[in-house]
Amino acid sequence: MKIKQEQDKLVICKCCGSNACYESEFTTQEGPINTWLCMTCGFTSNSTMTEDSEGLKQTLELTADLIKDLRQDHDGLAWFPTAITMPNKGMIFPEPIKGTKDWGWTVVKAIPIPEDEQEKYPDPTNPGTFYKNKMDMKNLKRYDKLEFMDAAEEMGMFINKK
Ligand SMILES: [Zn+2]
Repeated sequence: MKIKQEQDKLVICKCCGSNACYESEFTTQEGPINTWLCMTCGFTSNSTMTEDSEGLKQTLELTADLIKDLRQDHDGLAWFPTAITMPNKGMIFPEPIKGTKDWGWTVVKAIPIPEDEQEKYPDPTNPGTFYKNKMDMKNLKRYDKLEFMDAAEEMGMFINKK
C-alpha cells in the first residue's frame, strides 16, 4: 500500500498542541496519504481516518476499549493513542493508572530467550524458526501521558542496532 514516502516533517499536534507531531506523506495507488504520530502525547492519525471511512471502521474493530475511549476528533479525522510492538525491542501501549481515572504509557522491553528455551517460542510467520526475544512482562516501566518520547526512547525505538 505504501509506495513512496515523500517527506517527513514536524508539525503542531492537533491533540496536545506540542510542536513534535511527526508528519509523513506517502504516495499510494489511491493517492497521497498523510500520517501523524505525536512524540509528546503519542496520538496518531492519518488522512484516511474520516468519519464512516473503512480505515476508521477497521481501526475500531481491532482496537482495545481504552484506546477507543481516548479517541479525539480534529478537522474531521479521528486520533487515537498509538500502540507499538517491535518484536526485538519491546512494546509501548496506553494503560489506565490504577486508582485513578487517568492513563499513561507502559513500556515492556524485549529480553533474549535462552537458546535451550527458544524451541518453546515458534515464530508463526516463519515456520521452522523460533523467536530469540520475548516481552519481559515482569518489568514494566510507566510514563506520564505526555511523556511518549521518553517511553519510545526507553523501548529503543530510535536505536538501530541489530
Ligand atoms: Zn500531541
